[in-house]
Order: sequence, then structure tokens, then C-alpha cells
Amino acid sequence: MVKKMRKYLSYVAFTAFIVLAFAGCSSTKNSTSEKSDKIKVVATNSIIADITKNIGKNRIELHSIVPAGRDPHEYEPLPEDTKKVSEADAIFYNGLNLETGGNAWFEKLVKNAGKKANKDYFAVSDGVKKIYLEGASEKGKEDPHAWLDLKNGVIYARNIEKQLAAKDPKNKKFYKKNLNAYVKKLNGLHSKAKREFENIPAAKKMIVTSEGCFKYFSRAYNVPSAYIWEINTEQEGTPDQLKKLVQKLKNSEVPALFVESSVDSRPMKTISKETGIPIYSEIFTDSVAKKGQTGDSYYSMMKWNLEKIAAGLSQ
Ligand SMILES: [Zn+2]
Repeated sequence: MVKKMRKYLSYVAFTAFIVLAFAGCSSTKNSTSEKSDKIKVVATNSIIADITKNIGKNRIELHSIVPAGRDPHEYEPLPEDTKKVSEADAIFYNGLNLETGGNAWFEKLVKNAGKKANKDYFAVSDGVKKIYLEGASEKGKEDPHAWLDLKNGVIYARNIEKQLAAKDPKNKKFYKKNLNAYVKKLNGLHSKAKREFENIPAAKKMIVTSEGCFKYFSRAYNVPSAYIWEINTEQEGTPDQLKKLVQKLKNSEVPALFVESSVDSRPMKTISKETGIPIYSEIFTDSVAKKGQTGDSYYSMMKWNLEKIAAGLSQ
């Protein structure tokens, strides 16, 4: 009963809020409050949102869809996401078979909101040198994890800056300045990463994760990778997948395994038990860490990954 009452009260409060919000809109339309000036931007996940925030800072109103720690491949948007997407001036998504693969949640979302490609929503991976899933070379079979190469992170940042400047030209200089500072920071970490892996012996140099998300990273930093399943939209951790990886590891000198923050850790624990190779650390691949924790930005998650991977494989 109390619960029902509470529910009713919150409904009343919500209705009142909506009425007031609308009333507020019409009466303050001509006032130049800072808030109403801001362009409305939506990012599909926590990584893209963080890059966007580094460029738009307090001059944009930003909504991020997939929460930190969750899988961005498969998602069910909430009513709030639908609302934010329909109101948005610019929507940034990864593309490359990420939100558009699996249940294609992003395509449904923008279609329902009547949004148009390259007018309202933009693939931030535009211009990246694509890598495909194993044995594939066609559209829809791309590996989405381009951001795990910091040079691609720079491409994302440039694409975002370009659209923010186009949608909000009065803040063009501000976005450009932020972009330049951010790119410098990312480039610095990229150079450090390249040096970091040079001295690890080849026999130990392999990143083992649950999802095969390190293809772009492998290409950029010259560290091969292995996985249980290739992409989160397929079956995760079948006996056959586990067996294949265990065999591969038994013929190697790989000293450490890694598990991603946004997947079920049980299959990797099985691999560790079967091979006797310890899980060295959790790493961040498809999401930044929760706010306030180490790795809660794109830069710091990449820094964490680079340090943990280098330390784990150097043992
Ligand atoms: Zn993934």
C-alpha cells in the first residue's frame, strides 16, 4: 500500500515537473540563460562521451547512452535515451559494427527518432583504417574496437570537433583549442605505449582477453592477441571456444591473462584454472571505469591498460 502510494506521489511529482518544464520553456524563451544556449549532444557509450566532453566541456549538454561497465554491442535504450536522441543537435556513435551489429539497437533508435545519417548522427570512426573480423572483408563484419589504438582516438576526437564546430560555430575556437590540447595528450601516451612493449620477449608477448577486441591495439603496438570469443555479439564462452584457447596457451609462455570490465569474468576464470596462468588484471576495453575510479576517462583507461598489459607480460 505504502509502495503504491509512493509510486502515485512520484507520478504526481513527475506530472507537475513536466507541466512546469513546459511553462518554463515558453516564459524564458527570450532570456539568454547559459543552459538554453548549449547544443544538445548524445554519445552512444562512455568512451565516446568522454572524448566528446574533452572537446565540448561545459559548452555542450551531453547525454551518454550505454552506462559505464555495460556492453555497448547489445543494449536496450531507456525511454530517456529515446527522448535525448530525438532532441539532440548531434549524435555520436562508433559505427564499424558496434551499436549497429547484434540487435542493431542504435539503428532502431535513430530511425524511431526520425534522425538522418551525417546530418544528425555521425560515426566517429569515420576515416579509420578498418580491420575486419577473421575471414571477413565485407560491410557489417568490421571489428569495431578501433579506439583501442590511440591514433584512432585522435581521429574520433577530430571528427567530434568538426561536427561540434559545424553545429555551434560561435564556439568554434573553443572546440579547436580543446581538441589541440587533447590530441597532444593522446599522442604523448601513444608514443609511450609504442616504447613500452619493445622490450618484452616475443614468446611472452600476447594479450589474452575474453572478447577478441585487441586487433587495432595489436596492429598499433605490435603485440599479438588471443581471445575466447571474437566479438560480444556471438556466443560467449562455449566449450569449443574454451578448448581452443586452452590449447593455444599450453603451447606458449604467456605469463598473464586479462579480463575486461564489461564482460562476464567466468569464462576467463575457467581458462586460468585450466592453464594455470593467473588473471593479472581487469582492463577496460568497451567502457571506461565507473566515475571516480581509476580508468574513468578514455585517456586514463588507455593508460591503465598499457601499464597493466606491459607489467603483466614482463613478468
Ligand atoms: Zn567489444
